[in-house]
Amino acid sequence: MLMLQDFRVRQRDFLLEISRAITAQLELSEVLRRVLNASVVMLGGQLGLVALRDPGGEYRIRATLGIETDHVPDLNDQLNKLLADEALDYDSFTDQLTRIAIGLDRRMRQSFALPLVFAEQPLGLLIVFRAQRGMATADDIQVLQSFADQAAIAVHNAQLYARIDEERQQLAAIVENSADGVMILDPDLQIVNFNRALERMTGWRPDDAIGSSYDDVIVWKQLEHGDLRRALDDGWPLNAADPVHETLYVEGDLLRRDGLAKSVGIVFAPLLSADGRLARIIANVRDITNFRQAQAMQNVFISGISHELKTPVALIKGHAATLRRDDVEWGRDIVREYSTVIEEEADRLTALIDNLLTASRIQAQQGISLNSGDMRFDQLAARVVERFNTQTTGHKLVLDFPPDFPVIQGDETRLRQVLDNLVSNAIKYSPNGGAITIGGRVNNGSVTVFVKDQGVGMSDADQERIFERFYRVDGTLSRKTQGTGLGLYLAKAIVEAHGGRIWVESAPGKGATFFFTLPV
Ligand code: ADP
Repeated sequence: MLMLQDFRVRQRDFLLEISRAITAQLELSEVLRRVLNASVVMLGGQLGLVALRDPGGEYRIRATLGIETDHVPDLNDQLNKLLADEALDYDSFTDQLTRIAIGLDRRMRQSFALPLVFAEQPLGLLIVFRAQRGMATADDIQVLQSFADQAAIAVHNAQLYARIDEERQQLAAIVENSADGVMILDPDLQIVNFNRALERMTGWRPDDAIGSSYDDVIVWKQLEHGDLRRALDDGWPLNAADPVHETLYVEGDLLRRDGLAKSVGIVFAPLLSADGRLARIIANVRDITNFRQAQAMQNVFISGISHELKTPVALIKGHAATLRRDDVEWGRDIVREYSTVIEEEADRLTALIDNLLTASRIQAQQGISLNSGDMRFDQLAARVVERFNTQTTGHKLVLDFPPDFPVIQGDETRLRQVLDNLVSNAIKYSPNGGAITIGGRVNNGSVTVFVKDQGVGMSDADQERIFERFYRVDGTLSRKTQGTGLGLYLAKAIVEAHGGRIWVESAPGKGATFFFTLPV
């Protein structure tokens, strides 16, 4: 039998052990293990368990003593069933628990259930089973309660710590796997964090970069906007009205570790300490090479397009001005010839504007609206050939459709736009003339249309890119010929909107054949 004196001394030891667990041990399972051990020994028990309440209100056993893990799922169910029964008072609840304990070990006679409560929130339940029955005095119960309160604090701290640790790991994973480069600097601009995306951009390994100075790693070949050093010297971010949200943007060409250049934009965001000093600087680095390329392409496109627009306008204006001269009486032939030029150039302008509008609509992600109906593609091709034959002398346009070419479903205006673009390309990129064949084949459930020329052709590398917006093959011919780099981009979008596919077969100097399919 335990002497009372002895019990008091041990109680003090147990409380000490619990407070040590609170301060020294933050790992939840270890805290639970220590609290449970101390409780079982203090109450002279043999078995014990701790169940914690999850956010949904369910209790789950998180630590056991003397109970085999096989029994845990079943115990979980029985415990939650008991807890759900609101009619049970403490005595009948512990009686039921004892009955459950007997199922585990026939010697069990008594149960104690200590609720773990922190800030009036139930955190869980500590349960001890023992083989002998004994009365608990009011004093004992008070000691047990203060014991449970201490344990609850330990559990609460450990849970808090676990949550913070989980959040920290989540944040670290986000930073590490971010597609943007992320770097964290201390106030002296030493690098304290450097993620993998930044390794790809700069060629610096995180191990080498961390601990180095910002200026050694981020070397500018050319700085176009903003400057971190200068901004800090000027008092950034504390000189701002709202320093917490004050960011700094820096853009330029970075010199990678391997000597190559890379265009980047960096947003620096300050992290302030509780007393308002600069604690960290978080840098978000974005690779803007593609953006720069797109901008350069757009500039080329704009100068190209203005030229394309100006040419027909100049022709129309010139011919119209000649016709309306008051001092000359023009013959019928001249009037007809000049009006034809005006009409053709106006058509060219309309086609160009149509292309531009369609392209901007696709770009705005509105897609292409189709006005589909039954159509005879072979007849459409015949009309296109007839029109282009009047516009070129060096090329021979040939039709090659089988007589049973089927009626298809499609938007005639859009498909004419596709064919116009392909045929005018075939003419443009065959400077020495030759045959241009427009034909069709019938497959199972679809038709294939092709436009074949004997012109300059193109390399495999260019075949991959010609359907991109604004892309033009870089060569003497394309520099001499007018174009916007939109024709094939639109052709692809229109064909795909019909559920078809477009591709090219070609080799440099060997002509090119463009194919597209359309479902019947
Ligand atoms: P554009 O003709 O206005 O430049 P496109 O989108 O119609 O724009 O064509 C993109 C590029 O593809 C052209 O600049 C040209 O270099 C190449 N290309 C198109 N069609 C042909 C062809 N039939 N033969 C050779 N190259 C072609």
